Amino acid sequence: MHDARDLVLARLPSGVRIRTTVHVYGEGRLVDGPDGPELGVPADGGPVVYAQAAQHGREVNGTAVLRRLHERLAEAGEGAAGEDAVDAELEGTLVTVPVADPLTFDRVSYTTPESLDAIHSNMNRCWPGDADGTLHERMAASLWTFASAADAVVDLHTGSPAMLTHAVYMRDDAACRGLAEAFGTDLLLAEAAGDEADAEWSERGFAGKLRVAATREGVPTITPELAHSREIVPGAVDIGVRGMIGVLRHEGLLSDNPAPWNGTVARNHLGRVEAADSGLFTPDRGLSIGDEVEAGDRLGVVHDPATFEPLQTAAADRDGIVYSIAREATVTAGATLVGVAERLEE
Ligand SMILES: [Zn+2]
Repeated sequence: MHDARDLVLARLPSGVRIRTTVHVYGEGRLVDGPDGPELGVPADGGPVVYAQAAQHGREVNGTAVLRRLHERLAEAGEGAAGEDAVDAELEGTLVTVPVADPLTFDRVSYTTPESLDAIHSNMNRCWPGDADGTLHERMAASLWTFASAADAVVDLHTGSPAMLTHAVYMRDDAACRGLAEAFGTDLLLAEAAGDEADAEWSERGFAGKLRVAATREGVPTITPELAHSREIVPGAVDIGVRGMIGVLRHEGLLSDNPAPWNGTVARNHLGRVEAADSGLFTPDRGLSIGDEVEAGDRLGVVHDPATFEPLQTAAADRDGIVYSIAREATVTAGATLVGVAERLEE
């Protein structure tokens, strides 16, 4: 059973409504509430999973994943076969929002201009939102109604041009870890919890991420990062669809068990090799995402483009796995050249 409705997220200064579409599959229904559609689930119903994509509008692979998943679910019972096949009605409810932020989607951007939201240009810094707040806070609050009613949340994103596909979860949170394993990317990045995390988050302004807000409310949440932005990458979409089906199995909406996970867990965010000065960055030939590096290994050189003077020989500051490489050569001081995730466990 599939149902879809228009949801008004907020209004623009002109009065034009910012709308998106909410889809519901399985046991739940969309019912009319005072402020628009609301989720109705039967009292004896199964678990609820919420998935959204494109709160950073240029990150279109997540949107493609939700369309492909829609087709799989629509084919259910029609004899679909193969690895991605869904062969049963859902025992529970799946809620999806393929375009969480239409403002950034239309601009093919990551953030909105100051004229739309001077405080939170990045929607993923203002969860759980505020119905009386700024434009992005209102939009987040509308979607939070659905996300906070779920038993698990998947917030689909994509990364930079050279970033290894991975899923981020709250370190030491077993439920989030289980969800991440069910999604099944080879690399899982564990973001720190506790005091360390609060320092890390406030430093980087991460406290308002949907994943962090929902996990703090007790809703296990993961952020898959599927390939890169602006382009549909078929392999990444395949991983995303398999990941969503793994999550539906893990949460009990589908009866099979997710495939056993056998990948690598590494630590997020701290291992960033930064540009010591502005210039042109040339990664060493042969340096690829997924490479294992040791502290001190040479990664590339930053040159002054006009004088040719080498400004910095970039080197790994720790042992780990290369999970991102800056491929846009022009770098400013402090920009990340290479992301090195520290291996936590085999
Ligand atoms: Zn994103």
